[in-house]
Amino acid sequence: MSQFANLQMVDLKGQYLKIKSEVDAAIQSVIDNTAFIKGEPVKQFEEELAHYLGAKHVIGCANGTDALQLALMALGLKPGDEVITPDFTFIATVEVVALLGLKPVLVDVDMNDFTIDIDSLRDAITPRTKAIIPVHLFGQCANMEAIMQLANQHGIFVVEDTAQAIGSTYTFSNGKSQMAGTIGHFGCTSFFPSKNLGCFGDGGAIFTNDDALAEEVRSIANHGMRVRYHHDRIGVNSRLDTIQAAVLRVKLKHLDSYNVARQQAAQRYDDLLGSVAQLQIPARVAWSNHTFHQYTLRLLSGNRQKLIDSLKENGIPAMVYYPIPLHRQKAFQPYVDANAAKVFPNSLELSQQVFSLPMHTELNDDMQQFIAENVIKSL
Ligand SMILES: *Cc1c(COP(=O)(O)O)cnc(C)c1O
Repeated sequence: MSQFANLQMVDLKGQYLKIKSEVDAAIQSVIDNTAFIKGEPVKQFEEELAHYLGAKHVIGCANGTDALQLALMALGLKPGDEVITPDFTFIATVEVVALLGLKPVLVDVDMNDFTIDIDSLRDAITPRTKAIIPVHLFGQCANMEAIMQLANQHGIFVVEDTAQAIGSTYTFSNGKSQMAGTIGHFGCTSFFPSKNLGCFGDGGAIFTNDDALAEEVRSIANHGMRVRYHHDRIGVNSRLDTIQAAVLRVKLKHLDSYNVARQQAAQRYDDLLGSVAQLQIPARVAWSNHTFHQYTLRLLSGNRQKLIDSLKENGIPAMVYYPIPLHRQKAFQPYVDANAAKVFPNSLELSQQVFSLPMHTELNDDMQQFIAENVIKSL
C-alpha cells in the first residue's frame, strides 16, 4: 500500500482545511440571514467574478450543464439548427444541444492539445450551423482566434464551455489577452466541487459582454420572467444557491494561487515523466496558458488498463477522461450519420490512450515522486 494515507484524484478536504474558518463563517452568515435563495452573496459573487474575468455580466445558475442550456436557449435557435461541438468532451456539452431539439454536429479534435480541430470545424460548417461550442479541455483554451474568425465570417454564435478552464488566459496573435470564457458570445462554467473553482455542491455560471443576451439569460433562468408573475417566454428554474455563492466568494480569492499550485504540480510531473518514451506529457499551446483541471498523458504503447490497475494496487488513483468518444455513445447514434462515413480518428485514438493522474492544489514533491515512480514501474 501507499506510504501516503489517502492519495486522491482531488483533495477537497485538504484544500478546505486551509480556508476553514473563512468558509465556515461565510456559510454561517448565510444561515444567520436565512436568505437562502437570491441572497446578497449571489449578487456579490457575480460582480466579483465579472471583475476577475473582465466580463461585463456574470449570471449564476444551478450547474454547468444548465449554464450551457441557458446560453443556447438565449440564442433563439430553431429546432434542427446545427450546433458544432468536439467529439472528445464530457457529455454535458452535447447533451443540452440534443435536449433543446437542436442538431449536434460532432467534429474531431486536435491530437496535440485535445481541443476542437480547426480544419474539421471548417469542414463541418453548413448554412444551418448556428452555434459552435468549443471546449477548453483539461484547462487549456481551444484556438479561439481561429474559431472566432470562422464564426464571424459565417455569422455563427460561439458558446465557450469553460467548465474546466476557469482562470485560464487566452492570448491573441496581436498580443492581447482575455480570460477564457469571455471571448465568445457566451462563456459557461461549472462550480462542481472538483472543478478549479468548486463550491460545496452544484453551481454554475454564464458570462457575456452583451447586455441583451445577459438579460435574456437572467429571464430564462427565472421562469422566463422579468417582472414578477409576468412570463414572457418558457423558461426554467436555475439558480446559484446563496450558500454556494458564499463559499465561492471565499474561494475566488484563492483561484489564482490554486491554479499556480496546479501548474507547479504539472511541471513536477513533466520533469519526472517527460523523458519516458512510452508517455506523451500534456502539450502546451502558444495561445493559452494551462490551468490543469486534469494532468492527462497519452500512453503511446502498452496496456493502459494494466497500468491503471497496477497504480491502484499501490494506492494511486488514475482516471480515463474520456474512455468513449461521443460518436460511439449509444445516446448519440441517432445524430451520427452512418452514410457520411464520418470518422473521428483522433478522438478515438485519444480515448484509447489517455489517462489522468492525481491533480489538485495539495500535491507535494514526495507524493508526485511516488506516483511517477509507480507509473514508470507499471509500464
Ligand atoms: C463539468 C463539466 C460540465 C458540466 O458541469 P456540471 O456542473 O457538472 O453540470 C460541462 N462541460 C464540461 C467540459 C465539464 O467538464
